[in-house]
Amino acid sequence: MLLAFISQLFPGKAQRSAFDHYPVYSGPGLGLTYSKQQSVFRIWSPDAEKAVILLYEKGDGGEPVSEMAMVQKGEGTWVASIKGDQQGRFYTFKVSIQGKWSEEVPDPYAKAVGVNGKRAAILDLSVTNPSGWTFDKSPAFKQKTDAIIYELHVRDASIAANSGIQHKGKFLGLTEKGTTNAEGLATGIDHIKELGVTHVHLLPFYDYNSVDESKPEAKYNWGYDPLNYNVPEGSYATNAYDPAVRIKEFKQLVKTFHENGLRVVMDVVYNHTALTEKSNFNQLAPGYYYRQTKDGKFSNATACGNETASERPMFRKFMLESMKYWMEEYHIDGFRVDLMGVHDSKTMNLISKELHRVRPDIIIYGEGWTAGSSPLPDSVRALKKNAAKLDRIAVFSDDIRDGIKGSVFEHEDKGFASGKAGMEESIRFGIVAATKHPQVDYNKVNYSKAAYAKEPYQTVTYAECHDNHVLWDKLAISAKDATVAERKEMHKLALSVVLTSQGMSFLHAGTEFLRSKKGVENSYDSPDSINAIDWSLKTTNKDVLDYVKGLIKMRKQHPAFRMMKAKDIAAGIQFYDMPAGVIAYTINGTKAGDQWKKILVLFNGTAVEKQLTIPVGKWRRYAIADGTTAVEITSGNTKVAAYSCTIFYQ
Ligand code: CA
Repeated sequence: MLLAFISQLFPGKAQRSAFDHYPVYSGPGLGLTYSKQQSVFRIWSPDAEKAVILLYEKGDGGEPVSEMAMVQKGEGTWVASIKGDQQGRFYTFKVSIQGKWSEEVPDPYAKAVGVNGKRAAILDLSVTNPSGWTFDKSPAFKQKTDAIIYELHVRDASIAANSGIQHKGKFLGLTEKGTTNAEGLATGIDHIKELGVTHVHLLPFYDYNSVDESKPEAKYNWGYDPLNYNVPEGSYATNAYDPAVRIKEFKQLVKTFHENGLRVVMDVVYNHTALTEKSNFNQLAPGYYYRQTKDGKFSNATACGNETASERPMFRKFMLESMKYWMEEYHIDGFRVDLMGVHDSKTMNLISKELHRVRPDIIIYGEGWTAGSSPLPDSVRALKKNAAKLDRIAVFSDDIRDGIKGSVFEHEDKGFASGKAGMEESIRFGIVAATKHPQVDYNKVNYSKAAYAKEPYQTVTYAECHDNHVLWDKLAISAKDATVAERKEMHKLALSVVLTSQGMSFLHAGTEFLRSKKGVENSYDSPDSINAIDWSLKTTNKDVLDYVKGLIKMRKQHPAFRMMKAKDIAAGIQFYDMPAGVIAYTINGTKAGDQWKKILVLFNGTAVEKQLTIPVGKWRRYAIADGTTAVEITSGNTKVAAYSCTIFYQ
């Protein structure tokens, strides 16, 4: 309704320009500023003619204990101050716009909430710090291409009966040490540590809408439906009613990860909100935080009912302050930005600059695409094709993902690792992390027809993530004529490509022991029986696990796989002519500061053993699974098995 009103005010002008006239609050203190002496509340609601704050004794139910008018303070803000220590109370706001009262909502800046995020909570955040929190320190991390990221859903990690974990489905489940499966193999955080990854990327753990926190066991969700951006999700806490518990328990998780050499990446979803008309953003500033179509409706580049407007100053400010808050208050080490292609590049670069200023070792990566069309032009959004214009931000490479295993949208489609012909160039493109290389023919790459990454750390190399079929299921569907033994080799080859390619490596949890979701493609609301990590697989597929551990170890020991400069990749990597379905390249290890002077990587993506001509030299064959070195060859000829990765070095 407000949009119609704005159109009347600015006839003939695009609605976006109408919002340009809105005041911008540039100061601090949006939300609650707490002290024992007083609590000060500030909201931004430029259209309001009245605003009130309501105080409650509980996070749900009951009548307000007081209702207080707020005072207009300029730049669109309203302020209320309440004397005395208000800790333990809950609060909401409502505003009157054109004579009509809004819904009662917590404001977008809320840092603590009651059950299901309906009311914000007054809380002294220092009481949420676990012991030793001030000394919490992220493990050492030198450069972005050192990142080996492990994507994990909090609940999936521990919910299975065979996880051996006590706090199933909870943040605390990931703080338990010494847990094992039935055969005594490590589970949970001990397993992740054993695997050797550097970063654990947790699927959404801010407060999301879909799971009823009063009975969290009843329903499952990935959590891509944000409710309160600056608060941890209550269903992962042992008590969702006490606002301090979820905060404290999540901090405990971060601290335990850090103590065990693991960094924590947060999956952030600023591109849309779970609620649209009724969201807290839209109740306090109707229309402002969202993009509109020409006819004034909510535009929907996210396929989730709305898309936020990062180009408008107050949402830009919100994103920046929110990410900075997680980094500073919760010691978050990196961000994965959902549908980053919805956001404008200027906002993403401002965020990156500020986060890097505070924490030079932060990592930021995102999906360089959208799920629908946006009214904001392509050229100004953080799309994959614009990656070179992004500042220290990486994008997922769907080119190598689908090059490896086939299109995620065509279920029966195969990729290089499952024997499809003609995928070599997409793999080469991935090997050089989407940078410019004289031996890559960009016209033959599956999707991108140009190098989009300026530097290798702008590319996330992966074969699968939570979306679409997991790799093992994709292979079962697309390579159904292959034997299980063959598919195992395909799976290992796929992960070999990921972990030997330049750029940042990314693994979906459980892939190291052939996790299956029983053929369910997008399991966002499937039950635990589909999503839970089955820890018995660690025993069954120990051979695959040992191989993946070996790949990770090799990558960490050899900087040649982790070059930081595109020009070093262009000069140091040389591809060789090979039969169809085979890729061979060398890396100049000496130049990359590697103890291996020269490395030869051979991928055979075909169903048959191959006799290959390789560069003449004294090559030692490296056994990936156990890290040993086998026979030395000098002949310039070698045999490689079907669906295999072979590493030689000098
Ligand atoms: Ca929630």
